[in-house]
Amino acid sequence: MQTGKIGVTTDNIFPVIKKFLYSDHEIFLREVVSNAVDATQKLKTLASVGEFKGELGALDVRITIDKEAGTLTISDRGVGMTADEIERYINQIAFSGAEEFVEKYKNDANAIIGHFGLGFYSTFMVSKKVEIRTLSYKENSQAVQWSCDGSPSYEMTEIEKSDRGTDIVLYIDDENKEFLETQRINTLLRKYCRFLPIPIIFGKEQEWKDGKYVDTEEDKIINDLTPAWTRKPTDLTDEDYRNFYHEICPGSDEPLFWIHLNVDYPFNLTGILYFPKIKSNLDINRYKIQLYCNQVYVTDSVEGVVPDFLMLLQGVIDSPDIPLNVSRSYLQSDANVKKISTYITKKVADRLQEIFNNDRKQFEEKWDDIKLFIEYGMLSDEKFYDRATKFALLRNTEDKYFTFDEYKNIIAGEQTDKDGNLIYLYATDKTSQYSYIEAATARGYDVLLMNGQLDAHYIAMLEQKFEKSRFVRVDSDVIDNLIRKENNKEVSISSQEREALTTIFKSQIPAIDKSEFMIMFEALGENATPVMITQSEYMRRMKDMAAMQPGMSFYGEMPDMFNLIINTEHPLCKKVLTDTTTSCNERIAPITQELYEVNSEIARLNEERRDKKEDEIPVADKEALRAAEEKASQLRNQQESIYNEYAASNDLVKQLIDLALLSNNMLRGEALSKFVKRSFDML
Ligand code: ADP
Ligand code: MG
Repeated sequence: MQTGKIGVTTDNIFPVIKKFLYSDHEIFLREVVSNAVDATQKLKTLASVGEFKGELGALDVRITIDKEAGTLTISDRGVGMTADEIERYINQIAFSGAEEFVEKYKNDANAIIGHFGLGFYSTFMVSKKVEIRTLSYKENSQAVQWSCDGSPSYEMTEIEKSDRGTDIVLYIDDENKEFLETQRINTLLRKYCRFLPIPIIFGKEQEWKDGKYVDTEEDKIINDLTPAWTRKPTDLTDEDYRNFYHEICPGSDEPLFWIHLNVDYPFNLTGILYFPKIKSNLDINRYKIQLYCNQVYVTDSVEGVVPDFLMLLQGVIDSPDIPLNVSRSYLQSDANVKKISTYITKKVADRLQEIFNNDRKQFEEKWDDIKLFIEYGMLSDEKFYDRATKFALLRNTEDKYFTFDEYKNIIAGEQTDKDGNLIYLYATDKTSQYSYIEAATARGYDVLLMNGQLDAHYIAMLEQKFEKSRFVRVDSDVIDNLIRKENNKEVSISSQEREALTTIFKSQIPAIDKSEFMIMFEALGENATPVMITQSEYMRRMKDMAAMQPGMSFYGEMPDMFNLIINTEHPLCKKVLTDTTTSCNERIAPITQELYEVNSEIARLNEERRDKKEDEIPVADKEALRAAEEKASQLRNQQESIYNEYAASNDLVKQLIDLALLSNNMLRGEALSKFVKRSFDML
């Protein structure tokens, strides 16, 4: 018997393993099973090149639980190890800068294991003693047993073992009894080992007999040896792809598209990515992309490997070039991994282009479902943007789809303004913006539907990318102003009339939470709407953006600013004006006269004090100015209350405002029921 110390430079690595790897200790199973698979595949390779000439026999990996003995055993029929090899591969583990590293990555078990090549030693996270019983495939080998109880010393003895290969026997410690439960091991094997290329046997197939499940004689193989991504695309049918999808994402709807990745230079990568159908926010993050390394499950946090905008895809990627024991910081800094990300982006774009070219109809049908991915990609990745401009679609309010180029050609004629800018009109809601859409289409304009979660950002980006182009929401201005073809017609009412109308209309707008209105005048012709509501494109965008960005809540808190536009050429507005004049002038005129005089007085006083320093102005003059200003404001208030009083009795004004609100879907609650009642009364 040989005893010795494991070649580590830290005094005792096991406390380190136990302490720091605590959170992730289940991965020991992945480590030992993948070692068993490696050993088996090595033997297969040796046999195929003629270096091993014996009987291969059944090449599977068995996992057995012995509850009584408290052991979990992983057995393979692979290459095995000689005493020399145990010395080299198990006893001599190099630990350079161990403490430093452990300190840095103490919360990242994968990083520690990966760094130290601790695959096998991770078994000590859950074991009080570990035995290796092994017989090498080499002729005339002596079977040996290595055993270690968690202190840095081990024992090695010669044993009787007739069958080639290795048994790893884990004496599970008291805190980790869960790993002696069939159910727990089943779950772990399913998570880490379900796509391994060598049969993994755990327990027996069961059958239903005499009212319960009983074991049969047949071994239960828990894994699928040739999952779809390891096969050639030409050997797979659509059905195969769908079945595989449902295997990894049970309970999901049919995927929209899939992309089979297969590259061997400059790195090895295979995999299948699926565009899922996302019905609600709950579906996002339900299943993620799984990362495998030679069919061993590694992780489903693929940040860095997959570009951000594709994180919502599902499926698997498998690359031996991403080491089994990866840490996140490793992934982000690794040059290979960056290349992988670039490659995946390109493949996704190519595939979308291919579907677009071959089956545009299908592409259009699925556009609304994939648009989120594509817009996100275009927003976050310049290269993807460039590729996507050839297949990204714009959808108009009539549910027709256009590429960027197609759409540009369609609107170039009608929607170029007087300065040569191309105006893209859009709506965000077909129902509430109906009247504006209708007005625009009647004018021969086309209106896009931009109702996606990212569209506010997307529009801002497209404006930057497209030359001499602007996006304007249909309800952001009156139709003549949406696309200015010539300078606007002058509004021909006096400033006093403006003031009267402003006061009258403003006083009758029902209070709407978080909304403010400005009264504006336009000469839109007698056939246009008398009164309408618009919302400035700029203000609305600021608010939309703010809603999506933390830290800009200032804009988010602001009320929505709307414009109430009065068409001064419409007979109804003209009528309001003449009625107002008739009803109010008698009372207004004298006040206006007085106001005129007071204002002249104020102007005179101001003129006098010009160029004078504050202390050169006589006290009496100061007092006179103050009094005059107060008088003016009083007079204005008087006028205002006369107008307000009149407005309160003017059903036409109320009706005009309410109709404008109504066509904007803004008339609700009490205001709405008042409107209905008033309408009946007027009939
Ligand atoms: P790695 O798998 O990254 O090489 P491990 O710590 O998991 O690191 O294993 C160390 C070495 O021990 C392996 O490279 C292999 O040579 C040997 N080994 C471990 N398990 C087995 C096994 N079941 N059969 C044969 N050799 C094994
Ligand atoms: Mg290993």
